[in-house]
Amino acid sequence: MIQFDNVSKQYRDGTKAVDSINLHIKEGEFFVIIGPSGSGKTTILKMINRLIPLTSGTISIDDKRISDYDIHELRWNIGYVLQQIALFPHMTIGENIAIVPELKNWEQVKIKERIDELLEMVGLEPDIYRSRKPHELSGGQQQRVGVTRALAANPPIILMDEPFSALDPISREKLQDDLISLQKKIKKTIVFVTHDMKEALKLGDRICVMKDGEVVQIGTPEELLAHPENKFVRQFVGEEQGPYIERFSLHDILLPISETEESMAVLPASATLEETLSLLAANNELAVEEDGEIIGLVNRQAVIRKLAGSMQGEVKS
Ligand code: ADP
Ligand code: MG
Repeated sequence: MIQFDNVSKQYRDGTKAVDSINLHIKEGEFFVIIGPSGSGKTTILKMINRLIPLTSGTISIDDKRISDYDIHELRWNIGYVLQQIALFPHMTIGENIAIVPELKNWEQVKIKERIDELLEMVGLEPDIYRSRKPHELSGGQQQRVGVTRALAANPPIILMDEPFSALDPISREKLQDDLISLQKKIKKTIVFVTHDMKEALKLGDRICVMKDGEVVQIGTPEELLAHPENKFVRQFVGEEQGPYIERFSLHDILLPISETEESMAVLPASATLEETLSLLAANNELAVEEDGEIIGLVNRQAVIRKLAGSMQGEVKS
């Protein structure tokens, strides 16, 4: 869907922000780019919608070079959500959401319907919120509107640049959860930038780790956790994780047994994290066996949630 071939970006002052990277982002994928500040993440996003030109290489969307698209066609088909909510302060929430549909000359009736549909989708009662001004909303609500505005004209691609990093931890977790359930419905191709590994593991189908403008590793959350490519990734995935992997016990994350357990792959309760993750790559759920008995179930979400929690010191037992 979005393909980078040997893409580099050097700014006029000589800064090499992105150095010959290759990426293939699949249709409908939640693709997370993570890296420390200055590693080139924002530059990557801005090159996709041609906010900045590349120095060399090619970026294609659906096998057509981005330079061959009409610039408006390209921009209107790519939603963009920024860290600093850039809602227009003098326009109502409804008017803010309507910007791209207006540019695309949608009928007024259709635009009104779309505004209400989107507000409902993100849990903001349309009758209350559509005519409010941005300053009458909390930061979390504004960010929610930022997401709906990017979705307004139903673009197939959405770019999100640290969209939740300015929020308090509770609003942030809530918006992450909302985005996960939203993505299940809308199935967009999302390129999401963050510097928070916990967020990356929670949201990403795949994660691309960047350092100094280069790609260090691309993989699923499981692959990054179980097989970090080098010391940089290992540190980034979290120092606390080392001892945690040794302490890993399926007993901590068992889910209740359900009716379907008979058809499931079985994992011994003594399995290591690595064994668990590799079996979970092929099976959504596993039955856990101890002393010849099925004692519970385990799924991918439970493992990832536990690992992500351990990185923030939540799991110390
Ligand atoms: P990130 O989003 O990962 O923090 P950026 O893509 O914003 O990284 O920046 C990558 C590098 O490019 C940094 O060294 C940054 O200082 C530099 N940079 C970003 N924008 C410009 C610019 N307009 N002119 C010169 N250097 C820039
Ligand atoms: Mg940035």
